[in-house]
Amino acid sequence: MVFEYAPAPESAAIVDIRPSYGLFVGGEFTDGHGEPFKTVNPADESPLAEIACADAADVDRAVAAARAAFDTVWGPMPGAERAKYLYRIARIVQERSRELAVLESIDNGKPIRESRDVDVPLVAAHFFYYAGWADKLGHAGFGPDPRPVGVAGQVIPWNFPLLMLAWKIAPALACGNTVVLKPAETTPLTALLFAEICRQAELPPGVVNIVTGAGATGQALVEHPGIDKVAFTGSTEVGRQIARSVAGTSKRLTLELGGKAANIVYADAPLDQAVEGIVNGIFFNQGHVCCAGSRLLVQESAADELLERLKARMATLRVGDPLDKNTDVGAINSAAQLARIRELADAGEAEGAERWSPACELPGEGYWFAPTVFTGVAQSHRIAREEIFGPVLSVLTFRTPDEAVTKANNTPYGLSAGIWTEKGSLILWTAERLRAGVVWANTFNKFDPASPFGGYKESGFGREGGRHGLEAYLDA
Ligand code: NAD
Ligand code: MG
Repeated sequence: MVFEYAPAPESAAIVDIRPSYGLFVGGEFTDGHGEPFKTVNPADESPLAEIACADAADVDRAVAAARAAFDTVWGPMPGAERAKYLYRIARIVQERSRELAVLESIDNGKPIRESRDVDVPLVAAHFFYYAGWADKLGHAGFGPDPRPVGVAGQVIPWNFPLLMLAWKIAPALACGNTVVLKPAETTPLTALLFAEICRQAELPPGVVNIVTGAGATGQALVEHPGIDKVAFTGSTEVGRQIARSVAGTSKRLTLELGGKAANIVYADAPLDQAVEGIVNGIFFNQGHVCCAGSRLLVQESAADELLERLKARMATLRVGDPLDKNTDVGAINSAAQLARIRELADAGEAEGAERWSPACELPGEGYWFAPTVFTGVAQSHRIAREEIFGPVLSVLTFRTPDEAVTKANNTPYGLSAGIWTEKGSLILWTAERLRAGVVWANTFNKFDPASPFGGYKESGFGREGGRHGLEAYLDA
């Protein structure tokens, strides 16, 4: 007997979305001088709020505020004092976690189960972790008395809005830098709530500045001569542009770009666990994950059985209302991203791969894409080479470990990979040969603030998280 799920909606009453938002500069909310824009709820396309857009002059004000705070307050402050602010922010994030999670799900479209259980707890963990380093920087391995770099310009994407903010701001502040951060244009709301949290924590004005806007605002920020360091997470294309604009300046740069990770399943793997890992690898956050396991490489002798179990599991995924606590797969973040996913999925069919989705009813309004798997994929297919950034899995097969490694590394990217096998020696043999910054063994998409994260090749350079993540923000 099968029981149906009853709706289990999380209340949105805890969030108070204002009709309009300004920029956060020098500890105050101020007007922007660009053309304001709207952020929408991707689950129903309803407008949520009007957001100020920072033009070049606004960015200039924000950089000046960050510089003043760096010179007079934050740079000279002892690390043990800075740590107190970071601990305070971490605790407020925990106290306001439900509010942050609901707001993130409304603005981004991700399931509340993920924003509540993954994104927001990791945000708090990141601030706690880097708070602990603030007074121990001399023991981090970057010289006995490392200094902050200065003012950091940080540009982040829409897939993990608050978490990417934490990855950028926590290490920068712990090391004594001040920041100007630009959130993505489709997901600015949790960054603006974070600005309120900075005020609540009585963080000195100008230490954190948030400038909202689209690509032009990001460009004005990374090209500003008053910035000492640029940190960017987003597409490889924009990453390339930023690398060109920073070249020849004294600015430091870290880039965290796209990925096309191989999730390798050997025939001896525990298949049911592997299926859970595959599902988590590609359907977590609608596949809007730079380290998503978007290429499944399965050993030929186990392929039929694995695919059968995978399809059965996919048929149980619940797609729909992001605020329903039963939802597994939420809304696609924007119309533009949905169009890109559709285009690539269509290309997969046109190039001859076989497309399959479970029967699932999608809501009439909003941006939705059913969980999809392609079999019979060749390495030359666009769906095997390009980042789809959606709930679309491409399946390839292999016969020997050598072939698995060769196929896994046959990509311009190198951010992450997964290995599933019962043999420890095979895990080590495979991991050693994969050109990927993160390799998960018998698990996938596990994150910890103590562990460095970053890519090889076109996935970017520099590491975020852990002791390694301090390096980008310190002058040894
Ligand atoms: P994007 O790179 O255009 O946007 C990321 C951030 O950069 C946003 O804040 C954006 O406003 C800003 N930006 C855009 N142009 C800029 C410029 N010239 N200078 C400075 N900042 C600029 O990414 P997107 O258009 O939202 O997504 C396109 C594709 O990128 C996706 O389909 C996906 O493949 C990939 N992507 C990867 C990640 C990741 O985490 N690695 C995140 C988002 C998108
Ligand atoms: Mg939005």
